[in-house]
Amino acid sequence: MLNRQGRPTAAGQASDNAHPTFTGNKALAQVEPLLFEIGRYETTGVDIDEPEAFAPRLGGMERTGEIGLPGLSEPEAMRHYVRLSQKNYGIDSGLFPLGSCTMKHNPRLNERMARLPGFGDVHPLQPVSTVQGALELMQELARYLMTLTGTQAVALSPKAGAHGELAGMMAIKAAIEAKGEGASRRTVLVPDSAHGTNPATAALIGFQVKAVPAREDGWVHVEDVKAALGPDVAAIMLTNPNTCGLFEPQIVEIARALHDAGGYFYCDGANFNAIVGKARPGDLGIDAMHINLHKTFSTPHGGGGPGAGPVVLSERLAPFAPVPFVRQGASGLELVEHADEAGEAQPFGRVTAFHGQMGMYVRALSYMLSHGSDGMRRASEDAVLNANYIRAGLADLMSQPFGDKPCMHEVLFDDTWLKDTGVTTLDFAKAMIDEGYHPMTVYFPLVVHGAMLIEPTESESKASLDLFIATLRDLAMAAKAGDRDRFVGAPYHAPRRRLDETRAARSPVLRWTPPAPVQEAAE
Ligand SMILES: *Cc1c(COP(=O)(O)O)cnc(C)c1O
Repeated sequence: MLNRQGRPTAAGQASDNAHPTFTGNKALAQVEPLLFEIGRYETTGVDIDEPEAFAPRLGGMERTGEIGLPGLSEPEAMRHYVRLSQKNYGIDSGLFPLGSCTMKHNPRLNERMARLPGFGDVHPLQPVSTVQGALELMQELARYLMTLTGTQAVALSPKAGAHGELAGMMAIKAAIEAKGEGASRRTVLVPDSAHGTNPATAALIGFQVKAVPAREDGWVHVEDVKAALGPDVAAIMLTNPNTCGLFEPQIVEIARALHDAGGYFYCDGANFNAIVGKARPGDLGIDAMHINLHKTFSTPHGGGGPGAGPVVLSERLAPFAPVPFVRQGASGLELVEHADEAGEAQPFGRVTAFHGQMGMYVRALSYMLSHGSDGMRRASEDAVLNANYIRAGLADLMSQPFGDKPCMHEVLFDDTWLKDTGVTTLDFAKAMIDEGYHPMTVYFPLVVHGAMLIEPTESESKASLDLFIATLRDLAMAAKAGDRDRFVGAPYHAPRRRLDETRAARSPVLRWTPPAPVQEAAE
């Protein structure tokens, strides 16, 4: 099908519709072709004079052909990007129950603070004497993170949770090497309920990964950890609260067992939102833990990023923290950039070109200061309360894999309740899109069949949770009543229907090629 410009409309989408439109648009939801499809090579939105003749100094390497970038006029460019932005579903458009991701409201106050010129306009290569305020803010944020976690050091620079994992595990590796055990301690234990980044991180820096089971009750048991421990074990990477939404009740015993066996305890802190102000991971025996500022401390996620994943370290690992870090010097605060300036410490190196994400540091500290310690504790309590409210609201219809025990900040369902309905977890998630909700996390954690992991966060109101529960109840009852049609073709109302996600992941099309010229005669 062709639209008015004679270009193909979004691959047959309109024909799925009972009332196909000429343009392929659905009312004010407009299809938006690629820039390459609408742009013209001869067009530009700016007036630039032809360059004067000059002799290139590229030794024959200069481009001779057309650059091949499509151009748009200013209004066309504006519309293109605004339409694209409107296709995005974000936390500012609605509830975003993606488990393990903590998609919560980012208070606008934090945005204001991050845009203050003294923070927003600093340059990483500015003389340190001109950025004393920014360094002080970094030091203050570090102090808060150490206070909230009960740890002795923090590396602020990692730029994501997974990057913080890498920095923390590199500190562990450096500590092991400093003890002369680098050649013997080469195994890292990872529970089979872990987030995929945990085994990936361990493998990336040369450790062998050994799985520890998560039991029927969703917990990691100290006997299983002890059975896997030996002189070859460098560390365990454990998430707490874990990816099943449960607090690990044996965490203190697990930490002790690791330490007795000469290993280190890496805690994946992505779920810190559930326990801030209630428990300090340092008191539980952890040696390293990354904190996703973009989850717990409400800095923007994903496309709204960049993220930040500071990693806190125990006293045993503190000397190995990477550069750069802020230190009080004789004439003010200084940024220690090189290992040989670090005094007694033995930094393992550095993980970022500069000092990390300044804008995220400002947002996170603004969040902490505006909430206060009581506010942060209240936020964790409300996150847990909201998840349990959803659990209670759906428990009679949807099955929970670990019995009817209370959860932390996210609630996990499995697909036992969908048995014999002909509806799968995926179908159910897709039908949620028709109802205007971003689906929850599905098929993770892997230890649960057909998992659905819902994390409402503390930033949803009771009215919002009630509507969400009512919607899921309506869908669940429809599935049980045999209304398979509502699910198998869903989403029916989205601009795109079901995509072949496997093909998209396995053979992504990364290069645009011009379509064959449109045949006028075909009309
Ligand atoms: C989000 C998450 C990570 C990774 O964090 P990124 O910031 O996305 O790199 C690791 N572990 C768990 C449990 C997570 O939820």
